[in-house]
Amino acid sequence: MYNIKTIGVLTSGGDAPGMNAAIRAVTRAAMYNNLQVKAIYRGYKGLFTGEIYPIDNETVSNIIHHGGTIIKTARCVEFRTPEGRKQAYDNLVKENIDGLVVIGGDGTFTGASVFGMEYNFPIVGIPGTIDNDLYGTDTTIGYDTALNTIIQAIDKIRDTASSHERLFLVEVMGRDAGFLALNGAIASGAEAAIIPEIKTEEDQLEAFIQHGFHKSKNSSIVVVSESEITGGAMGIANKLKEKGYTPHVTILGHIQRGGSPTANDRILASRMGVAAIEALLDEQRCIMIGIVNNEIVHVPFKKAIKNEKPVNKYLLDVLNFLS
Ligand code: ATP
Repeated sequence: MYNIKTIGVLTSGGDAPGMNAAIRAVTRAAMYNNLQVKAIYRGYKGLFTGEIYPIDNETVSNIIHHGGTIIKTARCVEFRTPEGRKQAYDNLVKENIDGLVVIGGDGTFTGASVFGMEYNFPIVGIPGTIDNDLYGTDTTIGYDTALNTIIQAIDKIRDTASSHERLFLVEVMGRDAGFLALNGAIASGAEAAIIPEIKTEEDQLEAFIQHGFHKSKNSSIVVVSESEITGGAMGIANKLKEKGYTPHVTILGHIQRGGSPTANDRILASRMGVAAIEALLDEQRCIMIGIVNNEIVHVPFKKAIKNEKPVNKYLLDVLNFLS
């Protein structure tokens, strides 16, 4: 039986639009339940260094529409060591924090899982990553916003591609997950997507060429996931050049991470923030809040980390049928 009085909240790993909405929801739901809230700055780094300060309803006003994270994010090598985690635990005890909400991705939950088991500490995770690569949840905070940023960019590139009848390769983020590329391609009416889940990138390329791109006759847009497996847009461009094509490469880069979160991401973050506090009060620990078929679910960290989230291969067919 835990008696949680003070919770800590941190954001970790890559920033994602909607993290602020999640911090707001966690804080306000906690205060609604008469809990104190402390912000841990710069992810596990702040847990390690003791950069921990009280926040309240006022602190989180006017942030729901902002991208990034007001409590900052960082990577922390020290948290990967038992000594580093011991120091982090000592800081939690010093600050009287008895429950933790961590907002981040795969790595963040791996760290949380190790720490939670080591110190028997109540931790609940909220998936915040634009990649949408977490098993056990249909979507993650930031994914919808990033997808919208991608299609806005591709709409603009299309103007040039069609005016000049050019082939464009647009590289999007995803770190070995093709969700952004595949759904970005469908939503922008691109001709093809090259994603890491389909390991034979040569075949994907061949299929696309066979499918109907005629040299210097049509304009064409191919969305490519950044990944060693695909070789990224530059890797694909080099292969196409060997075949006599003259592709143009655009790498969208960090533009995909920022910006005001979409309504979907704000709502998702708000629901997940409230669910995280409810879960802690319900004595849940070492779980990630997920959403499946529009219902909140609890996914053990171990399950979320260990399993790879599959892309729906049928979406590739949809793209092929429509391109
Ligand atoms: P994104 O998907 O946006 O990259 P992420 O949460 O996967 O987000 P990482 O940089 O992989 O980001 O992980 C965030 C932090 O989690 C790391 O800097 C580290 O402090 C901690 N962490 C990751 N793996 C471990 C581990 N095996 N043991 C302890 N801590 C870990």
